Amino acid sequence: MIPMVDLKAQYADIREEIEQGFSQVLDSAQFILGPNVQALEAEVAEYLCVPHAVSCASGTDALHLALAAAGVGPGDEVITTPFTFIATAEAIRYVGAKPVFVDIEAHSYNLDLGQVESAITERTRAILPVHLFGQPVDMRELQRIATDHGLMIIEDCAQSFGASRDDIMTGCFGIAGCFSFFPSKNLGGYGDGGLVVTGSQSMAEEMRVLRNHGSRERYHHHVIGYNSRLDEVQAMIVRAKLKRITGYNDRRRKVAHAYSERLAGLPGVRTPWEDPEGHHVYHQYTLLVEDRDRVMEALKQAGVSSAIYYPIPLHRQEVFLEEYAGVSLPVAEDVASHCLSLPIYPELTDEQIEAVTDAVISAVNGGEVAVDAD
Ligand SMILES: *Cc1c(COP(=O)(O)O)cnc(C)c1O
Repeated sequence: MIPMVDLKAQYADIREEIEQGFSQVLDSAQFILGPNVQALEAEVAEYLCVPHAVSCASGTDALHLALAAAGVGPGDEVITTPFTFIATAEAIRYVGAKPVFVDIEAHSYNLDLGQVESAITERTRAILPVHLFGQPVDMRELQRIATDHGLMIIEDCAQSFGASRDDIMTGCFGIAGCFSFFPSKNLGGYGDGGLVVTGSQSMAEEMRVLRNHGSRERYHHHVIGYNSRLDEVQAMIVRAKLKRITGYNDRRRKVAHAYSERLAGLPGVRTPWEDPEGHHVYHQYTLLVEDRDRVMEALKQAGVSSAIYYPIPLHRQEVFLEEYAGVSLPVAEDVASHCLSLPIYPELTDEQIEAVTDAVISAVNGGEVAVDAD
């Protein structure tokens, strides 16, 4: 079975370095806010070309800390996408604000910027775009909207480490950019982890306080904070992968382009659109498939994993059902019922790419042997 992601293959590649780093951390007996955390924050800030990076316990916490440090709170509205992982909206709720969902574009799967302005009210404080599947949002246009209306932008970059638009990395357009090191993300650790980047020194300071029990000085607590720190072991692992992230992302792009070339023109299947002005890092490779359930089953029979990211848009999730009952977001609803993601990871071999695309072609053709594209 070709899996959605193959972390074992990646580990085999970096095993020696990780094992060495692991014994160093254990020998140092410094497990929380130690030298690896400090180094990782400096290295991420340098890689993304942003002044400050503050690590924390998860991508969800990164969003929470950023919203809290930006002063978003009860009574505020935050405009975001319904086609994302639940954490995006959870974080808005944690600070007591209300997520306002705006529909997406069918081609990019990202927020439809043409509909953002009509969702702005007196209460809107911030816009929270998600660079979904690694595709950067048109941030110049979003910045124009935010500036015109005096709003902050907080970016959800959980799937877009290393993606850029107009040569600026995602995470560096808004007042804060929030990353996740969940193991399956394109830059992941071997447990939970997250990080916020910001150009604002005061926000960075505020987040350092919030992540560590509201404390600037040990046992002096200024505000109610959280226990949300990245640990040394995770920081060491993410550092090892950060060194290789450019290569990892380049290989993801190669896999995606090979898929799109081999699947071009297949009836009932739309390959993902790639913004020619953006650098997409393909955290996921997501098709729209007319007859999705049947194709998914046929892929399974052929030994190829596939997955639905995401089957239910947030305004239709049980937790939000009542509150958003009157909200209709037809593009997100339609995309959610036809999206199908294929296996994508840097270690995927050319033979596996061929096997995946042959299986898709054969599945779409109702089991007929695929014509070899070579
Ligand atoms: C994974 C993810 C998150 C949350 O990250 P965690 O580290 O799992 O808390 C938030 N937003 C999006 C879009 C994600 O994909």
